[in-house]
Amino acid sequence: MRRRVDADNARRADADKPRRVDADEKLSPVPVPGRILNEIRTHALESRPEECCGLIIGDENERFVRVERCRNEMTQKHTENPQLYPRDGTAAFFMSPSDVLRVEKELRDTAERVSAVYHSHVGAGAYLSEMDLEYAEHAFFPFPDAHQIVIEVYGNEDAVGRIGIFRRDGVGRPFQGCLVRPVDR
Ligand SMILES: [Zn+2]
Repeated sequence: MRRRVDADNARRADADKPRRVDADEKLSPVPVPGRILNEIRTHALESRPEECCGLIIGDENERFVRVERCRNEMTQKHTENPQLYPRDGTAAFFMSPSDVLRVEKELRDTAERVSAVYHSHVGAGAYLSEMDLEYAEHAFFPFPDAHQIVIEVYGNEDAVGRIGIFRRDGVGRPFQGCLVRPVDR
């Protein structure tokens, strides 16, 4: 009897637990050009104490060609409507729609596309949070095929932590996370 109650409680706790996807260190890391990782790192460090965000552009030969920084407008959103946006830019990101539109316009009629979306976590790990998942899985998310990249940075040190990359087999499939490995290309 006691056991059944415990199992029920465990199940309930599971349902209430926020979803998140961690970078699985046991999986082999995904190769990403070192210069791309350096640009993301620099952006994350410069943006502290706020989260940074941006897009990675690729083509059919190389998924990671260049980085387009976007502004994080979450602090502005939070100031305007704290009920709707309970967190500010230190704990969440809201990628500037006009920055995204600018990049989409630039890519129109080219062979390039947005292949990954990145953002940082300040003082937190390289995982996809419940909010990140909601954003990436949203029906109106403009880049459903894009990988998600999360970089962890910390308060005052210039050291940055791990970089997680999250991929899925298709729209509607779950994201799976692993770490990245810098390569020269
Ligand atoms: Zn996040």
